[in-house]
This record gives sequence, C-alpha cells and structure tokens, in this order.
Amino acid sequence: MNAVLQTFLEMVRIDSPSGEEEAMRLYLEKRLSEHLIPFKVDKGGNLIADVPGNQCSHTNWLMLSGHMDVVPPCLGVKPVVTQEDGDTIITSDNTTVLGADDKAGLALILEMVIHSLNSDLPRPPIRLLFTTREEISLLGAKDVEPEDLKGVGFSVILDHTGDQGTIIHQAPALIEIQIECIGKAVHAGIQPEDGINAITLASRIINRFPVGRLDPDTTANIGTIEGGRAINVVPDRVKLIGEIRSHNPAIITQELDKLRQAIAEEMKAMPGSSVELKLIDQFPAYRVEPDHPGVQKVVEAARQAGLTPNLIRTNGGSDNNIFVNQGIPGVVLSACYIDPHSRQERVRMSEMTQGARFLLSIMEQFAHDSV
Ligand SMILES: [Zn+2]
Repeated sequence: MNAVLQTFLEMVRIDSPSGEEEAMRLYLEKRLSEHLIPFKVDKGGNLIADVPGNQCSHTNWLMLSGHMDVVPPCLGVKPVVTQEDGDTIITSDNTTVLGADDKAGLALILEMVIHSLNSDLPRPPIRLLFTTREEISLLGAKDVEPEDLKGVGFSVILDHTGDQGTIIHQAPALIEIQIECIGKAVHAGIQPEDGINAITLASRIINRFPVGRLDPDTTANIGTIEGGRAINVVPDRVKLIGEIRSHNPAIITQELDKLRQAIAEEMKAMPGSSVELKLIDQFPAYRVEPDHPGVQKVVEAARQAGLTPNLIRTNGGSDNNIFVNQGIPGVVLSACYIDPHSRQERVRMSEMTQGARFLLSIMEQFAHDSV
C-alpha cells in the first residue's frame, strides 16, 4: 500500500483546478509511460489509456475512470499524514481541500493497474479514462467521443464517499433554473407609482416554487438571488438561480410546467413586468438494474474482497450520468474520501487498502467472462 500512499501524496501536491488539469495529466502520462501503457488525450483534455487483458478469453473492455480536477480552495495543497488508532490518516493543512475527490480514486486505479501488470494478475482489457472538469457540470465527460467508448462493456468509476462495498447504480437528472425578473427602475421616493419592483416579482415567483424534498425522488432549491441597486431606486432586475433534480424525469417536467404557469400568472399580476426563464440541462438521470451482469460482477467482487456489497442510489451527479446515457452501463464506487469539498476532507489508509483489494477483485471477476 506504500505505492498507493506515495502516488496519492504526489497527486494531491499537483494543482488541478477545473479547466487547468494539464499538470495532473502530465503526471499521469509520465506514470503510464514508465509502464509502457499507450495513451492519448482527446479534445476535452481527457486522458485515455488502454491496458491489455491477461488470462482473459474475451475482448470487452472494462472502463476504470475518475476525474483529474479538484474543487477550490485547492492550490498549494500540503498533505498532512498522522496516525490515529493504528490507522494512517491523510488530511490537508486545513487551508485547502485535500483533493482526495478524486485523486484517491485516481491513485487506486493507477496503482492497481500497475500492480496487475507487474504481478501478472487476471484482468480484462482495461480502458482508463481520466476526465477533466467533472466538478463543473461534467464538462470533460460530455466531451468524450462516442468512438472512445466503443467496445466498453461496463464502466467502474471511483468517485463517491462511503464505506468500501458501496455500489451506486442510480442517480438523478438535474436541471439548472435561471429566472431573470425584469421590472422598471424609477426614484423610489419621487415617482414610485411609475416603477415596477423586480424584487416583489421575484418574491411572488419564489412563493410559488416549492423547495426542499418534494417527494422521495425529487428535490428543488433556489440557491442564489441577486439584484437591486440602492435603497432609493425601485429595482428593475433580479436574478434567481436554482435547481431541480429527480430520479423521475416526468416529475421534473411536471414541476417546470407549474413554474412556467406561476411565472405567467405573476407577470400578469404586475403589468409591464417580464421574466426570462432559462433551463439548463446539466445531466440526465440513470439507473443500471441490480441484476445487470456487470453489477452482479461488482457485487461478487465486493464479497470476494471481504466487503459487504451495498447497492444504493445517490442524489449527486457524476461522469456516470453521462456515460450510462451514452449506452455504457456502469456503477460508481467509493473512492475512500470522507467529507469531500471541505477543508476537513480526509482519507484513511485502512479504507484505501480495502479499496485496492476491491479493485483487484473487480478485475478478476471481469476477466472470467464478458459482460
Ligand atoms: Zn468527484
């Protein structure tokens, strides 16, 4: 496990904010080259590499994937290694995130593939896909050419928190909602009768849009509000940004229809006002059935690795939302990180050891027969 720890510590020291993953990609390219693994970079900056199968009778690729970018604050990460109850814990120095999301996943994938090569272990042909800009709306994954997914039978993405054995087979769709309310600015004291207050309009619309958990499958939120200029000016512009996510896309359509209706009615109630509604399709939902042969192999691999398989659905998005909708069934596994996207983000080496065993066990299961 020393190799995983050392690689992980090297990776987190490399700056890789979303859209600026070059240094991280160069590090990975160097490591792949050392082991004679051919690679290429696609138009989205994603790194794609192929590892031949071993003791395997079929030619279906297993894709192993994680993302190279990290959420801010992530520049100049200084990892701190401590001992706690006989376990090794890695944290940041508390001024940045650690970046274990998703470098713990990358370190596990890279080192286990190298271990498999060096130790002559059974494995299917493996396509490695290390993506860019996952943290900003999965932009790297959206740039992957369908050609580069051809021949992939199943994909395993290491990019979630949770105990080892966690297997995510379902995630929701997400629509970003931008509502720009437009009124008319006038002096608030001298001629308020001539103004149209965009903040009033926005608040009426907010009142008509339910937020929180709408049903077991659906959540909605208004996340930001921006507008107004001064206390003596009737505000003419307010922008609301929110989201709706659901495992059931029909509910999203239904809620957005209600929102459109509410906006039309509230505009009518304030003559002269207008609203620009913009809906951005961030990612589609997916569900890979638990009895899919690929999922079953991952479940069996967890058992073989001494873990308790736990098939769950998540309410977060990942590159898997994109790949499954491009026809590649796959699951997301825990990449061992705890409290991601916070300065308290950390990794326990005991879990990394389990994760390494799980990954080798997955390779073995997928070497047996094709999916
Ligand atoms: Zn991630």
